[in-house]
Amino acid sequence: MSPDGDPPDWTKGGEGLVLARCRACGGVQYFRRPFCPACGGEDPAVETASGRGTVYAVTVVARAPSPDLQAHAPYGIALVDAEEGFRFMAHCPPEGVAIGDCVRTTFRAFGAGLVPFVTQDVRS
Ligand SMILES: [Zn+2]
Repeated sequence: MSPDGDPPDWTKGGEGLVLARCRACGGVQYFRRPFCPACGGEDPAVETASGRGTVYAVTVVARAPSPDLQAHAPYGIALVDAEEGFRFMAHCPPEGVAIGDCVRTTFRAFGAGLVPFVTQDVRS
């Protein structure tokens, strides 16, 4: 847990992928809002996602947006449909991850922070 009581969240430097689940309708969101976009319920519960999902789209970045990030290029970027029902963006190897693959998530240093990094889930 972080000082604010939430589970580790990579957007705050922790090794975790966090979602918000509506206490009223069960709707899941990744970009956290103080309300549920489906039913308007307030104060969604925050929980840690499994990090498992299926690749929806994947691409390779050859030219990074800044000189410091260019050191990481080429790197893969994937859109992943999490098993909990939200879609998230993650880094991935530049080769070896394809649409439809089952993946799992770890975290890697990238630039000044951490990013989710997905690889094929060999258990599936
Ligand atoms: Zn709701």
